[in-house]
Amino acid sequence: MAGRLRALFHRRVWLWGLIGFVAALQLALVSRSLISGNGPGNVSGNSSGNVSGNVSGNPSAQSADLAYRPAETGLAAAIRQLSLMPADSLLGHIAYTEAPTNTLSPVLPNGSIQLRDPAAERFLAMVKAARANGVKLIPLSGFRSVEEQTYLFFTLKAKQALSAKERAQVSAPPGYSEHHTGYAVDIGDGDRPDTDLETRFDETPAFRWLRANAARFGFELSFPEGNPQGVSYEPWHWRFVGDRHSLETFYKR
Ligand SMILES: [Zn+2]
Repeated sequence: MAGRLRALFHRRVWLWGLIGFVAALQLALVSRSLISGNGPGNVSGNSSGNVSGNVSGNPSAQSADLAYRPAETGLAAAIRQLSLMPADSLLGHIAYTEAPTNTLSPVLPNGSIQLRDPAAERFLAMVKAARANGVKLIPLSGFRSVEEQTYLFFTLKAKQALSAKERAQVSAPPGYSEHHTGYAVDIGDGDRPDTDLETRFDETPAFRWLRANAARFGFELSFPEGNPQGVSYEPWHWRFVGDRHSLETFYKR
């Protein structure tokens, strides 16, 4: 009996010893990571060890280590930016397929501007509602073919001697315009044609009315200020997201 008790006591001592050893080891590891960076011996233990580990101990190792940190931040920022953009994008614009012509309806009596059927119907209802509030919404551009966008992008780019990047900030490359979908419409104020396709369109009654009411008709601003795509602010450019197909067109990735 006494022998069994002694054996049990010894097992307990051994167990507590093991627990104590593990705890001490953990404490040592934690304190090492807390003070890492304070001494050259610990440099290789941190995340930038691959950069400065081979020269640890000399003063320039510390400065190389510090100089490397902003680069890490820049890389992380670039990855974040990339993760916001789908793979099929070009200069900040997303690829879109052209709406079939038999899905389009005119939004002007002369038929010169067309939108996809549900967008056209809601756009005309929106024009009527705005008119009842004394506001004149004028469609300036609707569906655009890839061919038309090719002209707009390359001819005007050449005429204005812009780089591809500069041109892409104000216009989508062919194949990458929301106008191809038939859901995007550029809107002007009938009483302020001088603000057509200008940033100061956002000072007009038409813009203020759209800001307050467009969502009721399924329209939203595509490129608000500071948009994640990096496209310049376009207060005149609105897109229809009021049914399943249009919503999937712009949001499903
Ligand atoms: Zn537009």
